[in-house]
Amino acid sequence: MELQVVKGIGQDYAKKLSALNIYNVNDLLEYYPYRYNFINITPIANINETDSWMIKAQVIDSPRVQYIKRNFNRLNFKALSDNVILNVTIFNRAFLKQNLTLNKEIVLVGKYNKLKNSFIASDIKFNIEDKKIEPVYHLGNGIKNSYLSKVISEAVKNANVFDKIPEYLVDKYHFLDKNTAIKLIHNPLEINDIKRASLRLKYEELFDFMFKINYLKKLNNKAKGIKRDEFKDAKDNFMASLPFTLTKDQLTGVDDIYKDLTSEFRMNRLLLGDVGSGKTIVATFAIYLNFLSGYQSALMAPTEILAEQHYKSLKNILDKFNIKVGLLTGSLKVKEKKEIYEKLENGEIDLIIGTHALISEGVKFQKLGLVVTDEQHRFGVGQRNTLRDKGITPDVLYLSATPIPRTYALTIYGDLDITLIKTKPQGRLEIKTIIKKDEEIKDVLYKMLEELKNGHQIYVVSPLIENNDELDLKSVLDLEKKLQMAFNNQVEMAILHGKLKQNEKDKIMQKFKEGEIKILISTTVIEVGIDVANATMMVIFNAERFGLATIHQLRGRVGRSDLQSYCYLVSNKDTERLKVLEESNDGFYISERDFEMRGQGDLFGSKQSGEMSFKIADLKNDYQILLQAKVDSYNFIESEEYKANEYYKNLVEKINFIN
Ligand code: ADP
Ligand code: MG
Repeated sequence: MELQVVKGIGQDYAKKLSALNIYNVNDLLEYYPYRYNFINITPIANINETDSWMIKAQVIDSPRVQYIKRNFNRLNFKALSDNVILNVTIFNRAFLKQNLTLNKEIVLVGKYNKLKNSFIASDIKFNIEDKKIEPVYHLGNGIKNSYLSKVISEAVKNANVFDKIPEYLVDKYHFLDKNTAIKLIHNPLEINDIKRASLRLKYEELFDFMFKINYLKKLNNKAKGIKRDEFKDAKDNFMASLPFTLTKDQLTGVDDIYKDLTSEFRMNRLLLGDVGSGKTIVATFAIYLNFLSGYQSALMAPTEILAEQHYKSLKNILDKFNIKVGLLTGSLKVKEKKEIYEKLENGEIDLIIGTHALISEGVKFQKLGLVVTDEQHRFGVGQRNTLRDKGITPDVLYLSATPIPRTYALTIYGDLDITLIKTKPQGRLEIKTIIKKDEEIKDVLYKMLEELKNGHQIYVVSPLIENNDELDLKSVLDLEKKLQMAFNNQVEMAILHGKLKQNEKDKIMQKFKEGEIKILISTTVIEVGIDVANATMMVIFNAERFGLATIHQLRGRVGRSDLQSYCYLVSNKDTERLKVLEESNDGFYISERDFEMRGQGDLFGSKQSGEMSFKIADLKNDYQILLQAKVDSYNFIESEEYKANEYYKNLVEKINFIN
């Protein structure tokens, strides 16, 4: 149903909400709170200075706004709370000024400093209802929590959502019905409401997910594919052409692929290995073997830069075998694109490399036999299949550098065969990781200078784009200023962050690759897989804000040559956890520890990872639910009861169609 049927959502807001991936009423209803505020107002006499509190207050003068820099402001006003006059400050909420009229009763949330009589507010609430539990939603695009809460409450009134849990399972587990669960998750009256509602919503989500995985597995187990002839010399010839010898795990990968491609069944394999473990070369063998059998291959990368990088390195290897490689990027002229399309259709190109978007865009192949997808976790389950119908029944190989614990990999990728690449290429120096406190920054700067003097390049990473006093974090903008000062404006630096357009990002990355930029300061947007061999140092500020797996992936940007590389983690907090990174360079070990300590959230790069981003379930905390859903959905398929269920019947038809 259209969003605008909900009271309070007009055209403008409907548009705004799309930034949160809310496009219809169902999306809105399933936009679950990620946590709750328990409304608990305390008299100011009873609060301490260390925690955050909620107090009632009254505005007693008119607020003043100071604009500090672009997108950064502070609002000050005086308020009275139980006979105490407070100087209230709140950052980046200039827009509240008009609501803070004289004598207005408000609730302040934040921290109190008795000596200064100041109150740094993190939030100001205007109409506290009787609600004791307030849902908190992920926000963005200028949408406020109170607004979301209001329109969701409206939508919930008329909620009539489809329940994906088969009836007999709802009965068996005494689950709440779906509509009630949706109501309670957004407007719980007590903690137990949240528990019961979330349990059934999580189960439903995981049941649906495992149904797809189980069904795909069932299909793939017997899916007939291209049966290629044996090419007994392929392996030896391929290896002889390389400037290095393959590692043990790379050899296993090559063998697995050889068996897959020459069998009558379709290949559906995931190469799971740490950054730098050498997955690309294993995939290149698949492309080579596929070529020998007379088929075309497609290699999809998540970004243009990665596509170009692959193009350069693969061309090098494949030229020797006379394999024609093409690159399809957004920057090509229409004419050039057309030419490539033609060559693909008449078989003049044997391997096409591009981004996912470009390749699925109306490309026709003469004889597509293999699809390789790099950084597979970037694409959703649904998207996995989009390319399959381009060829007859192409074999599929996925590459992923997200090291996830084995048990989870087996479940999440349950429909795929997995080759783990754990051994690292020899002779690679381990990245030296060093934790430094904020006050030891001089050591870090000194080391940076040394690396720069040696002609090397440096990545600097910070969790924030702009400053935020409330959080006391270093931002990229701030860091640039400070580093420029430290190096006397003598060093070429650039900033990269997620708010830049893709082509701006590409341009900066290109300059960094070419060595024009010496220090690249960025949020975590540096692409996984980007290869700048001359970059030998990475400095991560506020490292405590990142999960171990993320830092491990980030530091994989350095250590890409025979030069010694360094990763400095600057942090005053949480150093116990960060020590795991000082001690180990093994992504699988680190991901196990990360999973133990932080849960799924960060492991898959939070929400961007598509496939693994459940709306409410969390793989670590809900693993038991996942296992149950796995068994239940398996039985549901085996008993063929799904055939009587409209939703699953349609789902299966869709899956069958694209397979
Ligand atoms: P990733 O698994 O992160 O995709 P790559 O495939 O990009 O890793 O490999 C990283 C680098 O290691 C590349 O420059 C590649 O040529 C090199 N490499 C791969 N395998 C070996 C090997 N067995 N011995 C030496 N170098 C290798
Ligand atoms: Mg790679």
